[in-house]
Amino acid sequence: MTFGDVSNQSDNSPKITLIGAGPVGSLLSVYLAQHGFQVELIERRADMRSEQISAGRSINLAVSTRGIHALKQIGLAEAILEQAVPMRGRMIHSLAGELSFQAYGKDDSQYINSISRGGLNKALMTAAESTQKVRISFHQRATAVDFGSGQLEIFDEENDETLKLTPSVLIGTDGSASAIRHAMMKLPRHQSKEKFLDYGYKELHIPPGPKGKFLLEKNALHIWPRGSFMLIALPNFEGSYTCTLFLPFEGPISFEQLTSPDRVSAFFTEYFADTVHLIENLTDTFFSNPTGHMSTIKCQPWHAGGNTLLLGDAAHGIVPFFGQGMNCGFEDCSVLSQCLSAQLSGSRLNWSGLFQDFYEQRKENTDAIADLALENFIEMRDKVGNSQFIQQKAVEQILQNAFPGRYFSRYSLVTFSRIPYKVAMEAGFILDEILAELCADLSSPDRVDLKLAERLINAKLTPFLNQHDQELVSELR
Ligand SMILES: Cc1cc2nc3c(=O)[nH]c(=O)nc-3n(C[C@H](O)[C@H](O)[C@H](O)COP(=O)(O)OP(=O)(O)OC[C@H]3O[C@@H](n4cnc5c(N)ncnc54)[C@H](O)[C@@H]3O)c2cc1C
Repeated sequence: MTFGDVSNQSDNSPKITLIGAGPVGSLLSVYLAQHGFQVELIERRADMRSEQISAGRSINLAVSTRGIHALKQIGLAEAILEQAVPMRGRMIHSLAGELSFQAYGKDDSQYINSISRGGLNKALMTAAESTQKVRISFHQRATAVDFGSGQLEIFDEENDETLKLTPSVLIGTDGSASAIRHAMMKLPRHQSKEKFLDYGYKELHIPPGPKGKFLLEKNALHIWPRGSFMLIALPNFEGSYTCTLFLPFEGPISFEQLTSPDRVSAFFTEYFADTVHLIENLTDTFFSNPTGHMSTIKCQPWHAGGNTLLLGDAAHGIVPFFGQGMNCGFEDCSVLSQCLSAQLSGSRLNWSGLFQDFYEQRKENTDAIADLALENFIEMRDKVGNSQFIQQKAVEQILQNAFPGRYFSRYSLVTFSRIPYKVAMEAGFILDEILAELCADLSSPDRVDLKLAERLINAKLTPFLNQHDQELVSELR
């Protein structure tokens, strides 16, 4: 097999083998087809377009600017967003059942989109096949890679046989339990660390009311923050909500305590009373749905053998609390496509150099969003109900309106811009300092000292953002 330099599209173009037709692998295959490559997409599960199978993990997810940018690039954003429900902020449900709304963006033009994971995945697979350059094979599970011989082993689950392939270029988009990553990390100088959260999650369902009525506020991500645990609910297009309970596996209030229908009912009645009459078959669903686990995976490098790369969750699993896992994987695809365009303009395509370039551009940013996602967990489950935090959020809202195009919240930088995640994270430290100074001894948000705010923004935030890509900063304005 050929490692390293592989001829580019103008002559004998290599076929690219992708493992995993999840959202990221399916999207990447469209990009690669648009660059002119033939793609072999190998998927362990059945075809979810013809068989009733779960799309895995969460039922719906939030798509925002980074994900939408990638969907726009392949020409699918409009069709996907037609089936999305805009979520303009968090609707906080207090223990006493009071509601309060915290906007995500500077105004109604900034929102995140709740979409069906299955619907998105299916649309991406169909878009891939319609390029006529992508062939998807189902029931095929990658089991091993021998980086010495370049051989990839696939187990064909329908025919119960093992196949051996020798791909020219191999990309692992096989998710957080990636077989390709496991094989790669056995190589010298490759390292991987997976840190499990001691929390699990469980999905529940609120069906639509009569005539498809949304039984909670439609355009919000609902949160029931309870300190060490929380429930959230995202709206689905047809009027239902997917709820997710995040709870420690062990301890006084934990999954290990919820061992009987009575205990589950009592727990929901005590902590989430306003959902008890809304959740469908609460106790049956609780026991029949699996309890998922979550982890952060950081590994390095993401490539090996001159022809193999990891991308999406396979390279960087993150916890779901910033709603960025898939958005980040989609951004990987647009960055890889950009690297490819740069290389394809030359005479020969060097995959090894291309993968290193891609890895260097992404690694520090995916590490940053992994850390931000962990921080956001504490914010969501604990701080959103805290009066000091609520005051800071109200001050942020005032600052975003008083200094449009000059003050941005950390959430906006991550969610509504394509500024590298690392830059968003570092800007976040500056924002923390500014807010701490403005909110010290503040009796009410509307008494915030706007003159001091302007001085702090001019002295700290603007010079920092001016060092970075102005085109990306201006997209936020
Ligand atoms: C509860 C929860 C909520 C989330 N919410 C959001 C959100 O709101 N916004 C967001 O952006 N992200 C969210 N995420 C993260 C998001 O789900 C992931 O980042 C995203 O699914 C990653 O896509 P992927 O294609 O890389 O991997 P996956 O979605 O895991 O897809 C991998 C694919 O590879 C296949 N596969 C696996 N192993 C093999 C093998 N050995 N051989 C062949 N095929 C294989 C799998 O069957 C699957 O089809 C959430 C995650 C969770 C758990």
